[in-house]
Amino acid sequence: MNLVFLGPPGAGKGTQAGLVSEYFDIPHISSGDIFRKNIFTKTNLGKKAKEFIDKGVLVPDKITNTMVKLRLERNDCKDGFILDGYPRTVAQADFLSGITDISCVINFILSKEEIVKRISGRRTCKKCRKVYHVEFNPPDQKSVCDECAGELIQRSDESPEIIRKRLKEYKKKTAPLENYYKKEDLLVEMDASPSINEIFNDVKKILKKVSRL
Ligand SMILES: [Zn+2]
Repeated sequence: MNLVFLGPPGAGKGTQAGLVSEYFDIPHISSGDIFRKNIFTKTNLGKKAKEFIDKGVLVPDKITNTMVKLRLERNDCKDGFILDGYPRTVAQADFLSGITDISCVINFILSKEEIVKRISGRRTCKKCRKVYHVEFNPPDQKSVCDECAGELIQRSDESPEIIRKRLKEYKKKTAPLENYYKKEDLLVEMDASPSINEIFNDVKKILKKVSRL
């Protein structure tokens, strides 16, 4: 079962991908993890990608495509995978369909206001990196980590202005992708506003159908 999860930052697709990965025993492959791994191990691709990430712009398709291809060729992908954060553009989707067959694309949908509320409320511990939310998952003591008493900060890329900018960029690049997969008859729309468990139940139902095809 070769899956693609689409959705803006903050829609919870990474969380769902993690749950699906465990339930169906297929790897969750996030573009962010692929980048971090390549950068951390200082591959040539990683060094190139870092230059773009440091500037706060998207990494060019050629670099990203190659990283993803190498990842999908690994043995743990033989029964399927969940791609999260890739493809982001129609050009990437074209590349992907050239190297593998996609079984289903789930598009997680959430309003802009809800996304800004979710992301801008996040607070991260400076010391242990644990993530809280001022409204949905507050620490016992304001701005102090429950685990290690470290200081909780708002990451610079999680301020409302930056989120709006990211969402605008996301929409511009990704809207054509939705049409692309709609035409391929692979797109399933998923309301991302209910609880994690409710969404996961819906996702499971869809994927059980897909896996029987
Ligand atoms: Zn901490």
